[in-house]
Amino acid sequence: MNDQKTQLVVIGAGPGGYAAAFYAADLGMNVTLVDTELNPGGVCLYRGCIPSKALLHAAKVVSESRDAKEFGITFNEPRIDVDKLRAWKDNVVSKMTGNLGLLAKSRKVAFIQGKATFVDSNTVKVKRPGSSPQNVRFEHAILATGSRPISLPNVPNSPLILNSTTALEIQTIPSSLLVVGGGYIGLELGTVYAELGSEVSVVEMTPGLLPGADRDLVNVLEKRLKTIFKSITLGTKVAKVEPTVKNVKVTFENPDGKTSQQTYDKILIAVGRKPNSSDLGLENTKVKITAKGFVQVDLQRRTTDPAIFAIGDIAGEPMLAHKASHEGRVAVDAIAGKKTAFEPKAIPAVVFTDPEIAWCGLTETQARQENRAIAVAKFPWGASGRAMTLNRTDGLTKLILDPDTQRVLGMAIVGPGAGELIAEGVLAVEMGSTAEDIKLAIHPHPTTSE
Ligand code: NAD
Repeated sequence: MNDQKTQLVVIGAGPGGYAAAFYAADLGMNVTLVDTELNPGGVCLYRGCIPSKALLHAAKVVSESRDAKEFGITFNEPRIDVDKLRAWKDNVVSKMTGNLGLLAKSRKVAFIQGKATFVDSNTVKVKRPGSSPQNVRFEHAILATGSRPISLPNVPNSPLILNSTTALEIQTIPSSLLVVGGGYIGLELGTVYAELGSEVSVVEMTPGLLPGADRDLVNVLEKRLKTIFKSITLGTKVAKVEPTVKNVKVTFENPDGKTSQQTYDKILIAVGRKPNSSDLGLENTKVKITAKGFVQVDLQRRTTDPAIFAIGDIAGEPMLAHKASHEGRVAVDAIAGKKTAFEPKAIPAVVFTDPEIAWCGLTETQARQENRAIAVAKFPWGASGRAMTLNRTDGLTKLILDPDTQRVLGMAIVGPGAGELIAEGVLAVEMGSTAEDIKLAIHPHPTTSE
């Protein structure tokens, strides 16, 4: 068997893994990056953030041209060429992943396509498609294998039952689609299918959409979603899913235990994700896994095995690409012997619906749960000139402040472009700004950033 020696092996080439590998190479380390795909990119680029945002952009073009009626511009109903749409989205993905492959080469990162498993605390074995397995001996390893969608119990396999991966492949536009789970994925992909012409129904188990997010933000989104979705049913579980050749029969159970049935062309299950921590041979190392399947790590992202680090979805919530990239740089700095720790004050979260919801730092919900005294400054977008010119006054910006010092502890926004606007909140929280600091900085007029 072919043997290779490397200073650092990174397993998994998503936004956590490739960011770590590239940074380590920039610091002068000899780096090997392993992934089962042909190029780096991971779930985010191949079947997550990037393809979903391409499709959400297409959805936004549809909704904006429909809304233009209100100010006197009427378009015909859109004609949707699904094959062309899919090809465009696939092209975005292949360009980006191809570029990452080139970037790896230009940094002299050795990229191996294959599946890595640990033989011991200093060796992984990589099974490569079409060639013999290769052993890679390393001084340090960073585990960045990400997560995968979970399903519901007893759901049979059927092409009519989609998960986030198959929904993004967008083979057809079903005339009716049930989205199970009113979280990030359910609402983003539900929006895509609804704007492309499906009759979308959403069922969520808890009493509200996007559990954990502040209700005043969610209420604004829910109001608009009700205009594009056929129905949003809360506090209801899916008890049974029975696919036939033509459609899927679903049995619902409400909190009183009453059941009802409906039939849909397709259903999308988006009820959360779980870390990819099994099948890695971690039992051959000293790495420990928590009860929820996450790899146990310290502030530097070192596992209980001194040679092995873990970052991204596999290292704990929130399962977000930008959190993974940041952890990657922390782990590499730790390996390089720098003084470092993963201690962000604000990890931004963005739900790319229309309107978008974004928040960072302390939320009102969290402050209430922790009995923490806060002051909240709210700016409804009804008074914003820019929002009016966009014909979208359905927004709200909130600052969560320390009542004694006026320091910004968190920011939350609902409205078109919230995902871009939240960056200022991240900066404010991380830099310890007060509300006055933000007020004293001149913001461009007329923009929603005011
Ligand atoms: P999620 O945790 O955001 O939402 C899952 C939802 O399903 C929850 O609201 C939950 O209450 C509900 N649910 C669970 N079981 C159910 C059942 N039996 N019937 C009805 N509803 C049920 O999970 P997700 O949407 O699958 O996304 C997974 C993760 O991926 C997210 O937590 C996020 O970290 C990441 N993600 C992020 C983005 C983004 O940043 N924009 C987009 C997509 C995914």
